[in-house]
Amino acid sequence: MEESKKKAVMIGVIMGCLVLAGVITYLTQRDKTDGPESLKPGVMYWLKCTAEGCGHEWQMDRRDYFEYLEEHQDPNIMAAPGVVCPKCGGETGYRAEKCEKCGHTFMRGTVPHDFADRCPECGHSKTEEERKEARKKE
Ligand SMILES: [Zn+2]
Ligand SMILES: [Zn+2]
Repeated sequence: MEESKKKAVMIGVIMGCLVLAGVITYLTQRDKTDGPESLKPGVMYWLKCTAEGCGHEWQMDRRDYFEYLEEHQDPNIMAAPGVVCPKCGGETGYRAEKCEKCGHTFMRGTVPHDFADRCPECGHSKTEEERKEARKKE
């Protein structure tokens, strides 16, 4: 009787370990697929400083950008945190778009109720172009 009880406990412990291992594998794998580490480096994002009198524009690797966001994100604030501007040192850099057509750099979502990457200068939007292309292929 005692022996079978011991066996049952052992099986319970082993099962528990297996479940735990499964959870850990799930968590680490999920991190790998969802975290910034999964992003391929080499895709550059434009950033623009919103500080008055600065307006510095620079490029940052998408991966570094998301890693920065993860580190600095305030869970109480939905907005993305500002990135430190290499020129003025303020946390006032935000993701921007550089227009492929006219080279103008602007903040995403400048044109209300429109694509975030709509250029306020010439009206070009890469998202719109890509959607048009995708529709043509259908
Ligand atoms: Zn600045
Ligand atoms: Zn433009």
